[in-house]
Amino acid sequence: MSEFPFADEFGPARVEHLYEPSIGLQAVVVVDNVAAGPSIGGVRMAPDVSARECFRLARAMTWKNAAAGLAHGGGKSVIFADPGMPIADKERLVRAFAALVHDVHDYIPGPDMGTDETCMAWVRDEIGRAVGLPRALGGIPLDEIGATGFGLAIAVDVAAAHCGLELNGARIAVQGFGAVGKHAARFLAERGTVLVAAADIAGTIADPNGLDVAALIAVKAGGGRVVDAPFGEKLAREAVLDVDCDILIPAARPDILTVDNAKHVRARLVAQGANIPASVDAEHVLYERGILSVPDFIANAGGVICAAVEYHGGSEAAAFAEIEDKISRNVATVLERSRDLAVPPRSAAQAMAEERVRAAMGYRRWR
Ligand code: NAD
Repeated sequence: MSEFPFADEFGPARVEHLYEPSIGLQAVVVVDNVAAGPSIGGVRMAPDVSARECFRLARAMTWKNAAAGLAHGGGKSVIFADPGMPIADKERLVRAFAALVHDVHDYIPGPDMGTDETCMAWVRDEIGRAVGLPRALGGIPLDEIGATGFGLAIAVDVAAAHCGLELNGARIAVQGFGAVGKHAARFLAERGTVLVAAADIAGTIADPNGLDVAALIAVKAGGGRVVDAPFGEKLAREAVLDVDCDILIPAARPDILTVDNAKHVRARLVAQGANIPASVDAEHVLYERGILSVPDFIANAGGVICAAVEYHGGSEAAAFAEIEDKISRNVATVLERSRDLAVPPRSAAQAMAEERVRAAMGYRRWR
């Protein structure tokens, strides 16, 4: 236990270090809690992620999957390597990894940073199980259809009603105009919102009268940056966080909302698209300022809900229906509990997820 001093009543159930020296494969897989069913979690390829970090990511999946009411626990794996290696080397490494997780039956691999649907096709070819597969293998390409962005739009819809914000005409700002952010902007525009600012790694583009979402998506699809769009005012990258808006969607990377910049957020509602975009203290600042913040693992569960539907043989239409059903009910439950108990939404969400894992554990022989 010394390497996992953070092991607790929930897990991890299993930690495997995997080595195949002949091709330089080093990997770790963490199966955290499987009370609700076999774990689903991404395969991350990165040179610098520790086993401890892998555990933390697996635990986050336990909460996300439980909160979403999926018949799956949480897991994660890391292949310690540079994801930019030549494709033939990558295929050899991913296939070797797959062969070594063959017997880790309670782990279902999915795509994550450094891996994609092609990698998952190799994994499925080796061991017969993986999610996030190409369409040709019956997969539902979740980033292409915007599963997580769609879930965020649903979360915003429910949360806006909760805080008395009219969605039609609401001004939104999106940090990170990638797979999550651009689809969130698209689905919200269909609900009448106005995109007043969007940022990517190169900068922010803003217009208080509204940016053309479809045109901005086209700029990105052509390999451009948001600041390449022939409209809007070009601002510094971080400016997106304090533009005047009603709804802020951080959908870029972890830890971007700090105690300092949370004081300047001008939105009434924050919907967390990225994983852990705000520190605990930053969330507290938002809460004290009366800004409603929907926690990441509630708001951005669309992708994993889609993956679970795919795993159980469901269609794209079924995935959208499941995302809408689960996220709308969860956001409503979390925000009602938060209000009734006078606690931040994250505390309410965490308590709900733990309750669900405990309930599932109650049906197991060992608990
Ligand atoms: P992506 O790579 O498609 O897009 C990320 C975008 O963020 C890019 O446009 C990039 O330029 C921009 N960006 C990076 N750093 C930035 C910064 N400092 N300021 C402004 N923009 C910045 O990634 P994605 O799949 O959209 O994922 C975004 C986040 O959401 C990640 O934290 C990811 O872990 C999380 N997430 C993704 C999914 C999913 O289904 N893809 C599901 C749950 C959570």
